[in-house]
Amino acid sequence: MSSIFKKIIDGEIPCKKVLESENCLAFYDINPQAPIHVLIIPKKEIKDFNGLDSQSMSELLDFTHQVVDTLRLKDKGYRLITNVGEHGGQEVPHLHFHLLGGAKLKWEKLA
Ligand code: AMP
Repeated sequence: MSSIFKKIIDGEIPCKKVLESENCLAFYDINPQAPIHVLIIPKKEIKDFNGLDSQSMSELLDFTHQVVDTLRLKDKGYRLITNVGEHGGQEVPHLHFHLLGGAKLKWEKLA
C-alpha cells in the first residue's frame, strides 16, 4: 500500500508545494513545529535513511540547497532532521527530511 507521501507525489492528495524537481519534492508540513516547516522527499519510494543510496542522497543534497535558497534560510540558519523507525519517531514510512526555520529553535532533551 502506498504511503501518504506517495499519494502526494502522484497528485492524489494535495500539498502546499515549495519546490519540485524531476526526483524530489518539497512541501509545507501540515502540522508545523516552527514558523517554517517543510518536508523534503525523494520521489523514489525509499522507506527511511537506512535505505538511502548515494545517487538519491546526491539529488536530495542539491535539491535541499535550492529549497534553503528559495525560503531564504541560509543566512539566519535552520535545522534539518530525519526521523528513522520507532525510536526516531518516524510516522510516515517514506524518507523525508524536516527543514525547520524562521525563528531561533529550541534544543531540549528528547528522552
Ligand atoms: P515523521 O514523524 O518524521 O514521520 O513526520 C511525518 C510528518 O508528516 C509530520 O510532521 C506530519 O505533520 C507530516 N504530514 C503528515 N501528513 C501530511 C500531509 N498530508 N501533508 C503535509 N504534511 C503531512
